[in-house]
Amino acid sequence: MRAFEWCEPKTLEEALSDLGAKGAVTKAGKIDLLDRLKRRLDAPSRLVSLRRVAELSGVREVEGGGLLLGALTTLSALAEHPLLRSRWPALASAAGQAATPNVRNAATVGGDLLQRPRCWYFRKEAFVCARKGGDSCFAQEGRNGYHAVLGNDQCAMVHPSDVAVPLLAYRATVTIAGPLGRRTVPLESIYVGPDEDITREHRLLPGELLVAVRLPPPGGGASYVKLKERESADWPLASAAAVLEIPGGRCTAASVVLGAAAPLPFRSRAAEAELVGGPVDEASAARAAKAALLEARPLSENAHKVQLLEVAVRRAILFAARAV
Ligand SMILES: Cc1cc2nc3c(=O)[nH]c(=O)nc-3n(C[C@H](O)[C@H](O)[C@H](O)COP(=O)(O)OP(=O)(O)OC[C@H]3O[C@@H](n4cnc5c(N)ncnc54)[C@H](O)[C@@H]3O)c2cc1C
Repeated sequence: MRAFEWCEPKTLEEALSDLGAKGAVTKAGKIDLLDRLKRRLDAPSRLVSLRRVAELSGVREVEGGGLLLGALTTLSALAEHPLLRSRWPALASAAGQAATPNVRNAATVGGDLLQRPRCWYFRKEAFVCARKGGDSCFAQEGRNGYHAVLGNDQCAMVHPSDVAVPLLAYRATVTIAGPLGRRTVPLESIYVGPDEDITREHRLLPGELLVAVRLPPPGGGASYVKLKERESADWPLASAAAVLEIPGGRCTAASVVLGAAAPLPFRSRAAEAELVGGPVDEASAARAAKAALLEARPLSENAHKVQLLEVAVRRAILFAARAV
């Protein structure tokens, strides 16, 4: 690990100023970052720790019935928060199923949304894959049992975040601050696919900070389904979130998002189109799950993931419909 300078700003302004230096990198719970430093994937000249920046902490209700989550809110706090458990249960469930209790106590929502890929080729210094500036994706021909089945032709990583999946389904927005000011944008819009830029996963620029995540008031029923290889703590093999509005027995609005399926959290408009306008039952949920995976292109070792993802989507839809 290369030596670096350590900064502990107390305000957002100080943090942005500290991040202005060349080679400066943001540190939140450090679960992802420390692993990358130890593996020599990153060699920052300065680490800017956010832990003393009060503006980035806390969960509070906002006008109109939404909820604001400071970027430093831990996954444990999300999982245990009474308001989240009662009104945004898909998010509380995803946070509670991520990683292990000790990781959840340190890992923050901002860091989870912005963590880098867990693809074993990406994480090994020796493999200079396309995402690290090389010219190939080793997973295409190599070991790819856990990799993407959608949008995987240039890079087959799966986006690692559990909480991004329900947050996209709830149509959350994020506030980003940087040298040019603040902007609030849909969470979905910050993610970048390999066809646009294979070297990054999100649109935040160096020197910018994710300040908060905002959840709109919940409408209808929601659920999050995570399928894992092990029953104990594990990354998702397949996951899905659904948020449905079904007044009077007809679905009027649907959000369906797949996790561990593609290089970014994958919102399936095809699945949503199958649900809107009709009743939500076994038949429409199965049609929506098929539609979500219609474009799947499994690699040599991961055809099973297509079926697992279909199961996750179908279950998420049916559980959300029951929760309305
Ligand atoms: C054993 C293990 C199991 C895991 N299992 C799961 C799992 O099942 N599901 C899951 O979702 N995750 C899982 N994780 C990943 C873990 O949840 C993430 O690494 C963690 O949430 C990252 O958050 P952090 O606060 O530690 O971020 P850090 O490691 O501090 O930062 C991560 C990245 O985000 C940037 N960053 C952080 N905060 C901000 C901000 N506010 N603004 C701008 N940039 C920022 C950092 O610069 C860095 O690049 C697992 C990790 C481990 C070690």
